[in-house]
Amino acid sequence: MKITEHIAAAKGKTLFSFEILPPLKGQNIQSIFDGIDPLMEFKPPFIDVTYHREEYVYIEQPNGFLEKKVVRKRPGTVGICAAIQNKYGIDAVPHILCGGFTKEDTENFLIDLDFLGINNVMALRGDAVKSETYFKPEPKGNCFASDLVSQIQEMNQGQYLDSPLEKNHATNFCVGVAGYPEKHMEAPSLDNDIERLKAKVAAGAEYVVTQMFYDNSKFFEFVSKCRKSGITIPIIPGLKPLATKKQLTNIPHRFHVDLPEELIRSVNNCKTDLEVREVGVEWCTAQSKELISSGVEVLHYYSMGKSTNIHKIASSVF
Ligand SMILES: Cc1cc2nc3c(=O)[nH]c(=O)nc-3n(C[C@H](O)[C@H](O)[C@H](O)COP(=O)(O)OP(=O)(O)OC[C@H]3O[C@@H](n4cnc5c(N)ncnc54)[C@H](O)[C@@H]3O)c2cc1C
Repeated sequence: MKITEHIAAAKGKTLFSFEILPPLKGQNIQSIFDGIDPLMEFKPPFIDVTYHREEYVYIEQPNGFLEKKVVRKRPGTVGICAAIQNKYGIDAVPHILCGGFTKEDTENFLIDLDFLGINNVMALRGDAVKSETYFKPEPKGNCFASDLVSQIQEMNQGQYLDSPLEKNHATNFCVGVAGYPEKHMEAPSLDNDIERLKAKVAAGAEYVVTQMFYDNSKFFEFVSKCRKSGITIPIIPGLKPLATKKQLTNIPHRFHVDLPEELIRSVNNCKTDLEVREVGVEWCTAQSKELISSGVEVLHYYSMGKSTNIHKIASSVF
């Protein structure tokens, strides 16, 4: 089923969903199942699986020269999605990026998904490669998520890159895109970023999942601005409970989100990361309850493969 169909079928009840990352190369899929199993009691209608683009590492040679090597630390997004759909009989939503993909790579990726019966995708631009400051699209690749959404919608119309083909099977993807309650780091303003989000919707996006946030008022303000600008599709809040003291600096640095003073104080008062986890669970539970009362269609948790804290939150919320 499409994510939009799950939302319609829930008839106003808030659904539970979460996101996982493929394991590091060399590990097997059992760690993924071990993370999913305890969360199945909350009946997630879908699980997202992130996509991780290549990284460059530079290895010093005996002659002192640096050799550039391309490494992919977390491959396996499509395989994990197929395994989830097979094992649990629920929808898996692979993330797909502009970065590192030519349009032809994108088309082939989508053909694989279509053949596997995967009908939902989350379309993202992706970040710059770690060793570079700015995002660079692949030659003959999509530049922005809105371009990627357009390509997917063309395939939904039966248009392939080398059309006309002998037979043009139309795919049937439901496309999600990212939204940023505290604006994307490269956007000059929140209003400008919302205009870009509107372009993704105009290209055919059917729902939005937001970047994590720790202050619900930022989410409510974002949704209100989106609605005023004419965006009517579901906006699904993304939540990530804090689990370590280090995240007080890591999360703002990596995701460009603010942490409320009260949360910072509570975390700073903790003596161990175990205590921080408890604070994170309490905070995220309170956020979840308020978001449910506001009528959000889905609560989407960034589990990072660790389900214990998400289980605690879901137990008191769903
Ligand atoms: C829910 C969610 C899931 C994610 N999953 C992954 C994942 O699996 N793998 C991964 O690598 N990353 C993931 N990310 C991170 C994401 O790839 C980065 O945040 C990336 O920098 C932006 O992606 P986007 O799709 O929002 O880009 P876009 O929507 O293309 O926007 C990128 C920037 O360009 C601007 N912009 C858009 N269109 C135009 C235009 N036409 N002209 C000028 N500027 C424009 C926007 O305002 C924004 O600042 C995820 C993020 C979220 C919120």
